[in-house]
Amino acid sequence: MATTADTSRPSKIPDAPTVSSRYMDVLPGDEQRDNYARQVNSALFSIVAPTPVSSPTTLLCSKSVCADLGFDRQFCASEEFAALMSGNKTFPGSAPFAMRYGGHQFGQWAGQLGDGRAINLGELPASDGRVLNLQLKGAGPTPYSRGADGRAVLRSSVREYLCSEAMFHLGVPTTRALSLVLTGDEVLRDMFYDGNAADEPGAIVCRVAPSFIRFGHFQLCAYRGETQLLERLIEHTIVADYPHLPNPGLCAGAEKRQIYLRWFEQVCKRTGDMVLGWMRVGFVHGVMNTDNMSILGLTIDYGPYGWIDDYNPEWTPNTTDAQGRRYRFGQQADIALWNLYQLANALLVVLEDPEPVQQILQDYQRDYDSAWTQMMLSKLGLVSYQGEGDDALLTELLALLAEQETDMTIFYRRLADFNPDLPAADLLGLVGEAFYAPEAMSQELRERYRAWAQSYAIRIRGQALEHETRKAAMNAVNPWFVLRNYLAQEAIEHAHEGDYAMLHALDEVLLNPYVEQERFAQFFAKRPEWARHRAGASMLSCSS
Ligand code: AMP
Ligand code: MG
Repeated sequence: MATTADTSRPSKIPDAPTVSSRYMDVLPGDEQRDNYARQVNSALFSIVAPTPVSSPTTLLCSKSVCADLGFDRQFCASEEFAALMSGNKTFPGSAPFAMRYGGHQFGQWAGQLGDGRAINLGELPASDGRVLNLQLKGAGPTPYSRGADGRAVLRSSVREYLCSEAMFHLGVPTTRALSLVLTGDEVLRDMFYDGNAADEPGAIVCRVAPSFIRFGHFQLCAYRGETQLLERLIEHTIVADYPHLPNPGLCAGAEKRQIYLRWFEQVCKRTGDMVLGWMRVGFVHGVMNTDNMSILGLTIDYGPYGWIDDYNPEWTPNTTDAQGRRYRFGQQADIALWNLYQLANALLVVLEDPEPVQQILQDYQRDYDSAWTQMMLSKLGLVSYQGEGDDALLTELLALLAEQETDMTIFYRRLADFNPDLPAADLLGLVGEAFYAPEAMSQELRERYRAWAQSYAIRIRGQALEHETRKAAMNAVNPWFVLRNYLAQEAIEHAHEGDYAMLHALDEVLLNPYVEQERFAQFFAKRPEWARHRAGASMLSCSS
């Protein structure tokens, strides 16, 4: 006879799964186990335990990352989960560790950096067959902390959690966020570096990615003359993260170098795809130092990033970069290339011959440029490149958008409604909502828009595609929702008051960024005036 389940008895919370780590298993670690700041030589990680926190509470937990990892809701709501996600408890099998890497910061070689506040817990198999690493950001000092506290504050953790999840759902390669936990401890921060330090609530984000290896991992080996270590790292990366390539450990000489070259080519391609994604949705990373460049081409280290409201290729959100604007929106592809050159320099230690590396970089640049054109055409609903006329169409549009403050997201979204087959098709009327000061628009600018609309209309008619089909294609690449800086800032300010409603709303709207969501209509709006010069909304420092 069938029995019904006894619902009065609480079901058992599943045990935490056992983790492992190929990085630790395969690569040499630091022999020193004490946790003090130091230079680590001839090793790629240091074993270090997270520093316990007072009272961890889970504030956010990504349903889709949980599903990837096979974590159920009950487990994620448990105290055990909060303890694991704050480092107060460790997963079975885990030997937490911090990784060693270096990097170029703002164009200068900075030497050893490393996981100064990120502690790796190990990896778990995902439902799709991948292996995912779990890493706690803000879990306390490590040998790579360089005298800093190893902690993270709520505002930067909210920004990392929301933005990495938003990017994922926008289809831009990124690390993910599994959870955001409040630690119950205060963290002292001088947000504007002006001598006014204040306590802020501490938090920890659990980041998830197939790999957290950065360009700087390879660079530091090369700079220190650790050639064997560099080769071991390259081989591990290819075997673990580029498994479709032949295993270089099984060959030697020219054959092995050929695999390294094929791998480098793919690193370039992935890096380019990531930057293309940023340019498509209006994201500015803000700190494209080589220590913040993932070897898998994932957006990583969400610090003083920002989203373009008005289209302005000169804009950077990072106050530390306000002078040189090295990491401004319009320069991101050039910087990615510069960073790839730095990685190439490191790899030359084992590749020896610069010629094929140079060729890969040149081909990459050419391919990126044509992929950029293709991406931009897709934002206009144009299917294939038709020559110089298209270049002119794009150049003039971007000049128009930058001429007067024009909201990038709203503009492209409304542009999808432009149907030149309607007798009264009026482009300026359709996109009017995107202008920050429509009354200030000059007659000359109006004329230029009209002329552009005429060329665009001719181009659209020439491709014989139904209006509705083109509109759907445009709405699939031009997001309706992006995590505007002021929205994240408002959510953070409410969270500081203990009100998490907006945080949860953003965490929900970001799941479907290409769908117009009536319920969240207030998020499809230009940046309000108050946000123009407000810290957190218009500019950010590296303090986090
Ligand atoms: P970022 O600018 O966040 O990419 O960090 C650059 C370097 O500084 C990395 O090595 C970080 O681990 C380290 N770092 C940043 N903030 C802290 C902190 N609060 N404690 C320890 N290390 C930190
Ligand atoms: Mg970093």
